Amino acid sequence: MDRYLTPEHVRLKERVRRFALDAIVPVARELDETSSFPWETVKTMGEMGWMGVPVPRALGGMGLDDLSYILVVEELARHDASHAITVSAHTTLGTSPLLSFGTEEQKRTFVPPLASGEVLGGFGLTEPGAGSDASGSRTRAVREGDGYRLNGSKIFITHAGVGEIFTVTAVTDPEEGARGITSFLVFKPTVDLERARSIEFGHKDDLPFTEGVRAGKKEDKLGWRASDTRELLLEEAWVPMEQRLGEEGQGFVNFMKTLDAGRIGVAALSLGLAQGAFDVAVPYANRREQFGRKIWDFQQIQFRLADMATQIEAGRHLTYHAAWLKDRGEPFSKQAAMAKLFCSELAMRATLDAIQVLGGAGYTSEYPVERMMRDAKVCEIGEGTNEIQKIVIGRHILEEMLGEPSKQSNAPSAREPAGAIST
Ligand SMILES: Cc1cc2nc3c(=O)[nH]c(=O)nc-3n(C[C@H](O)[C@H](O)[C@H](O)COP(=O)(O)OP(=O)(O)OC[C@H]3O[C@@H](n4cnc5c(N)ncnc54)[C@H](O)[C@@H]3O)c2cc1C
Repeated sequence: MDRYLTPEHVRLKERVRRFALDAIVPVARELDETSSFPWETVKTMGEMGWMGVPVPRALGGMGLDDLSYILVVEELARHDASHAITVSAHTTLGTSPLLSFGTEEQKRTFVPPLASGEVLGGFGLTEPGAGSDASGSRTRAVREGDGYRLNGSKIFITHAGVGEIFTVTAVTDPEEGARGITSFLVFKPTVDLERARSIEFGHKDDLPFTEGVRAGKKEDKLGWRASDTRELLLEEAWVPMEQRLGEEGQGFVNFMKTLDAGRIGVAALSLGLAQGAFDVAVPYANRREQFGRKIWDFQQIQFRLADMATQIEAGRHLTYHAAWLKDRGEPFSKQAAMAKLFCSELAMRATLDAIQVLGGAGYTSEYPVERMMRDAKVCEIGEGTNEIQKIVIGRHILEEMLGEPSKQSNAPSAREPAGAIST
C-alpha cells in the first residue's frame, strides 16, 4: 500500500490503532450489549481532530486529505464499527453537505462546531416510503414568509437522537419529481442534554434550534448497536431562507454527490471489519489444537484464511484508489460504488469465515467476531443497497460505452430515470 500511503498516513493510522486498543476495545462489547452511545470516547476522538479530518483548517478541521479520513474509519472499524460509523456518518453525511453546498456564511457558522465534534451532525434523506427510491420523498417544504414550512418524517437517521445539526431533504415542487427536491439545515438539541452538559461535549447552546424538529423512536438494531439510529420528525417546522442549503431543486443532485463520497467511507468501514475478523482468526488458528495439531495445519483452514487475505488486499486497493481519485479531484463515483459493493460483501464473508475458524468460540461474545458479523450486514444496506450499487456501476459502464459527457462528473446523468437514483 506504499503507493497510496505517506509516512504521515502511516503515523495517523498508528495513532488511531493505539487509541482504539486502549480506549475502545475495553468498552466495545458492553456498548454493544447495552446499545449505548459512546459519549466519552467520541469526545476524545473530537479532541484528537478525527471528527473533522478532511475539513479545512480554516474551518476548524485537520485539513488532511480524504485518504487520511478513510484510514481513520478503517482503523476504527477494525476494532469497533459503531465508533467508525459515528466518525463516518458525522463527516460525510453531517459535515460534507455544508462544506460542498453551503454559503460562506453557513460554512463559517456551522462547520467549526461539527469539525471539532462539539456537536454531532447527520443527514435525513430516507423516509418510510422513500428508501432506494429517494425521489419518492413525501416530506414537504412550502414557502411561507421569508422561509419554508417543513412537514414529514425521516427514518433510520444516524445521530437523529444524539446529534444537533442536520441536512434534510424536502419536496419544494411536487411537479418536478427528483428535480423538485431541496436541502435544508435544521437544528435540534441532543436527546442526551444532561450527559452532554456534564462532559461539555455534544451540545451548543447558541445554535438556532428549529421548533418542530425532534428525534423519534430509537431503533433496536442487529449491529452498529452503539451508533445512534432514530426517526427524525419535522412537524410544522419553520426554516428561514438562510437555512436552505444550495438552490431550490438542487437537493437531489447534491445528495447524490454526498452519497458518492459516503460510499468510500462505508467501503473503508467494511474493510476494517474484514481486517479485524482476520486479525482474530489467524492467531486463533495458530493456537487452537485438534487431532493433535494446530488447526492452522489443516489445509481447509489455511485456504480460508488465504482467501480472506487476498480479498482484503483487493478491497484495500479498490477503496484507497477511490479515495485517491477523490483527492485528485477526478471522477470517482464508479470506483466508490465498486469499493462499497466489494468491501461490504467481503466484510460479510470474512466475518462469517472468522466465526467458522473459531468454531463454537466464534459464536459466543467471548470473541468479537460475532459482533463484527452483525456489524457487517448493514454495510450491504446503508448509503445505497448493494443492488443499487450495481445499478450505479452499470450506469457508468453504459455511459463509458456510449462516450457520454456525464462520465466526467459525479452527478447523475440526465438520462437517469429518477426512481433508479437512490441512497
Ligand atoms: C443502521 C442504518 C443507518 C442508516 N443511516 C441513514 C442516515 O443517516 N440517513 C439516511 O437518510 N438514511 C439512513 N439509512 C437508510 C438507508 O440508506 C436505507 O435503509 C437504504 O437506502 C435502503 O432503503 P430501504 O431500507 O427503504 O430499503 P428498500 O429501498 O425498501 O429496499 C428493499 C430491497 O429492495 C431492493 N431494491 C430496491 N430498489 C431496487 C431496484 N431498483 N433494483 C433492485 N433491487 C432494488 C433493495 O436493494 C433491497 O434489497 C440507514 C439505514 C440503517 C439500517
